[in-house]
Amino acid sequence: MKRRKKVKRSTWSVTVLCIAISMVIFNTFFGTKKEAATEKQVVPVVKKVPPEKNQGKYATAITCMDGKGQGLVKNYIIEHYNIDWVDLITHSGANKILAENFNTPIVAGMRENLGNSVFSSHKSKLIAIVGHSGCLVNKAGKNEQIIQLRECEKRIRSWGFGVKEKIILLFWTKNPRTIQRVW
Ligand SMILES: [Zn+2]
Repeated sequence: MKRRKKVKRSTWSVTVLCIAISMVIFNTFFGTKKEAATEKQVVPVVKKVPPEKNQGKYATAITCMDGKGQGLVKNYIIEHYNIDWVDLITHSGANKILAENFNTPIVAGMRENLGNSVFSSHKSKLIAIVGHSGCLVNKAGKNEQIIQLRECEKRIRSWGFGVKEKIILLFWTKNPRTIQRVW
């Protein structure tokens, strides 16, 4: 009898231990998932659905290589002009170089890239020319850069692609990080 009682007691202990371990394991896996789900609900992720391959509207931006502005430029164009993709043609002080036309190989490269964006399957119909404050190369102030941007627009139109692209001029500042259309 004593032996049977002992066996019964030890079986009971093992059962309790098993239940405890199961609860810990269950909590580890399912408890964490529940938390993650709640977190997701608190911060909803709104993402524009990317178009199918070879679809979507393209724009082109001629802008400085400065990485602080490229996200601003792309987002501004996508949000304001119903665009899906933005081809970036970048160079340090791009607007100064294009306005003054002093580095002809670089300007020729810009023209070639713009032609690729406009005439390829991208069929870009919107061109943004961009200036910014605190540039490593272009030390001109905002007003002077706006004059440069207008010169850039004239130069691009003089290339006579024969396409009626819409051209917009943008200017962004580093501090605070803002962007606005200036023409
Ligand atoms: Zn710059």
